[in-house]
Amino acid sequence: MISFLDLKKINEPYETAFQEKLKLVLTNGWYILGKEVETFEKAFAEYCNTKHCIGVGNGFDALVLIFKGYIELGKLKKGDEVIVPANTYIASILAILQADLIPVLVEPKLETYNIDPDLIQEKITAKTKAILVVHLYGQMCEMDKISEIAKKNNLIVVEDAAQSHGAINNQQLTINNLNSAIAYSFYPGKNLGCLGDGGAITTNDSELAKVLFSLRNYGSEKKYHNEYIGVNSRLDELQAGFLNLKLPNLDSDNEKRRKIAKRYLEEIKNDKIILPFWDISNNHVFHLFVIRTENRDKLQEYLTQNNIQTVIHYPIPPHKQNAFSEWNALSFPITEKIHNEVLSLPISPVLTDTEIDFIIEILNQYN
Ligand SMILES: *Cc1c(COP(=O)(O)O)cnc(C)c1O
Repeated sequence: MISFLDLKKINEPYETAFQEKLKLVLTNGWYILGKEVETFEKAFAEYCNTKHCIGVGNGFDALVLIFKGYIELGKLKKGDEVIVPANTYIASILAILQADLIPVLVEPKLETYNIDPDLIQEKITAKTKAILVVHLYGQMCEMDKISEIAKKNNLIVVEDAAQSHGAINNQQLTINNLNSAIAYSFYPGKNLGCLGDGGAITTNDSELAKVLFSLRNYGSEKKYHNEYIGVNSRLDELQAGFLNLKLPNLDSDNEKRRKIAKRYLEEIKNDKIILPFWDISNNHVFHLFVIRTENRDKLQEYLTQNNIQTVIHYPIPPHKQNAFSEWNALSFPITEKIHNEVLSLPISPVLTDTEIDFIIEILNQYN
C-alpha cells in the first residue's frame, strides 16, 4: 500500500537527533518556555521574514490568540464580524467563535478552492472588522486583491497558514500596514510538523506581539502579575527542540512536494480528473494535492483497490456540520461541490519515484 502520509518515514532521518535533543532537555531540566522555544521563535521569525514569532500550543490557539490580542488592544470587540471562507477546515471558523466574534462565510473560487475576493465586499457590513484568509492546501490566497479590500474598509487581516508554511515567507505582512498576523500549526502532518501539538504566530506588530507573549501564558509577563485574562497555550521545549531540527529542511521538503505536483500536473491525463490550479508565480507549497472528479467515491475505491491510499479534505462543509445546525439550511453551492468532488493524492516528500510513477499510471488507467 502506498500510504497517504508516512509520518514515520518523514521523521526517521531525525531519529538520532531527536534522541539527543530529548537528552539535552532532560539534562537541562527545563521544560516550558526556555532556550529551545526562544531559539525556535527567533529562527522561525527570521525564516518568515517577520519581526516577531510567538510559540503557542497549537494552530487553533494561534488563531484564537490573535483575535484575543486584537480585542485586548481595542481593535476588535465582542460581536464584531469576521469574513472567512466557507471552504476551510473547521478550525478557522471555530477560532473566530472562540474569541466571541461572528464568522461570515464567503464562497471560494472553484478553480483555486480559496476565498473569492470578488465576493468579499458584498458581505461587509458596519460590524465587519477583520478578514481571516486561509491559504488552503498550501496555495496563497489572492492577497493583492484582499489587502486592497481590507485597506478600503479598514479591516484587520489575519492569515491561517496552518497548511502553507513557507508559501508566504517572501511576501507576507506587507498588507494593511501593521494590522496583520499569521497563525501556523505544527501538527505532525503539516509541512512543518512536530511530534505532538504545536503552533506559532508571526507578526510585525510589536504591540500585538507583546500582548500575545503574555496572553499565551495566563496573561502574565512577570510571574504572578496578570495583565490580561490569558490562557495556557505554550509551545513546549521538547517540541520546539524537534522543530529546531526540522526547520532547516522545510524549503527542500516543499521543493520536493512541488516537484511531485509538477509531475502529476504534466503526466496525469484523464478526462475524468480535474487537476488543481497552480499559478507558477504563486509559491504553492502543496500541503495537499487535491483533484476533483464527479464520482469521487468510485475513484477512491479504485485507488484503494490498487493499493493507493487517498484522503478527502474535507467530506462535510463546515456549514453542514451538526455543530452549526443554524447554518445547515444555508446554501454555498461552490463549497458543497468542492466537498463532494475532492480527493487528495499522496504528495509527501518521502514518496519515491517508483511510487509516483505508479500513482500516475493507475490514474491514467481509470475510466
Ligand atoms: C491544521 C489546521 C488548523 C489547526 O491546527 P491545529 O494545530 O490542529 O490546532 C487550523 N486551520 C487549518 C486550515 C488547518 O489545516
